[in-house]
Amino acid sequence: MKNIRDFTLEELEILVKDLGEPPYRAHQIFHWITCKGAQSFHEMTNLPNALRKKLSENFSLSLPEVLEIKEDLDGTIKLAFLLEDEEVIESVILPERDHFTLCVSTQVGCAMGCKFCLTGKMGFKRNLKVFEIISQVVWAKRFLKNRGEELPLRNIVFMGMGEPLANLRNLIKALKILAHPMGFNFSRKRLTVSTVGLIKEIEILGREFPVALAVSLHAPTDEIRKTLIPIAYKYSIKEILQVVKRFPRIKNGRTTIEYLLLKDLTDTSFCAEKLVELFKGLPIKINLIPFNPHPELPFERPSEKRMEEFQKFLLSHGILTTIRKSKGLKISAACGHLRAEIQKYLFPNSMNKKTTIRTG
Ligand code: SF4
Repeated sequence: MKNIRDFTLEELEILVKDLGEPPYRAHQIFHWITCKGAQSFHEMTNLPNALRKKLSENFSLSLPEVLEIKEDLDGTIKLAFLLEDEEVIESVILPERDHFTLCVSTQVGCAMGCKFCLTGKMGFKRNLKVFEIISQVVWAKRFLKNRGEELPLRNIVFMGMGEPLANLRNLIKALKILAHPMGFNFSRKRLTVSTVGLIKEIEILGREFPVALAVSLHAPTDEIRKTLIPIAYKYSIKEILQVVKRFPRIKNGRTTIEYLLLKDLTDTSFCAEKLVELFKGLPIKINLIPFNPHPELPFERPSEKRMEEFQKFLLSHGILTTIRKSKGLKISAACGHLRAEIQKYLFPNSMNKKTTIRTG
């Protein structure tokens, strides 16, 4: 049975027309499944009984089950979800000063095989459906509300499991649902899609539904990049830069260049100089990501001093540069550590039986 959360508002309008209903019914349904968080069609009390019955006979409203909730002492919360086919995905809620950010998954596993990433080690299993992407937001909002959190969930970053642009069609639909003013109403500037640099797909996203873009460059030369990211054999940094320059800027925002700091590999003076050559004068921001060590990954984290020197060098050349604070390390929620470790560890009817594990 098709899940009604897979539909954009435009698709719902076609659906209600086919059911012989006026277009405003689509708006009502859309409002129920986004803002009002309806869990059944029976709750939709402003719809006629006959329509509610028809919808419940033909569509599902179900959400993936929450398998596990883990919370780090730094406030990072990892949610693991059980999908219909018993695959598991993860999302991470990150507390910020005046809001929450949600890091969302778009695939089960990932085909990109980046050498520094545990999701990449899982290999690719499948793309997430639209409702599976949206459900992560629904659950996160519900979770924060139930906890009485006052700060809003304001930012969504597509940086969880998977390469978002490899699931382009479902990603764009999910973005449309999240950004729609009659729905979740997230500002496009606060929806960030991260990619290792799928050129054709970046262009399509820019054309069809531009949001904030983050490109995971991670190395300043093709030679170094090839040792870290297999897709670098297909697309050069020069080609990536060309599409980044063409990508529409939302409210004059800057494209983020994600750059992983690996000891003695990407944290050298040579790399810093190359980055300046590449980006000086461009409307970008470099986000330095300190590597999060893991026994299964053959890299080391640079010292704090080295990372600060690297940042200072870029700043001294006029490049806006930040260092990302590592969060959620103790619950395997940090960048590159999402891997659905509880795969196949099943709980029936999760919301009543969810586990909350506080670590640290
Ligand atoms: S870093 Fe992103 S694109 Fe690369 S393997 Fe991990 S999830 Fe996939």
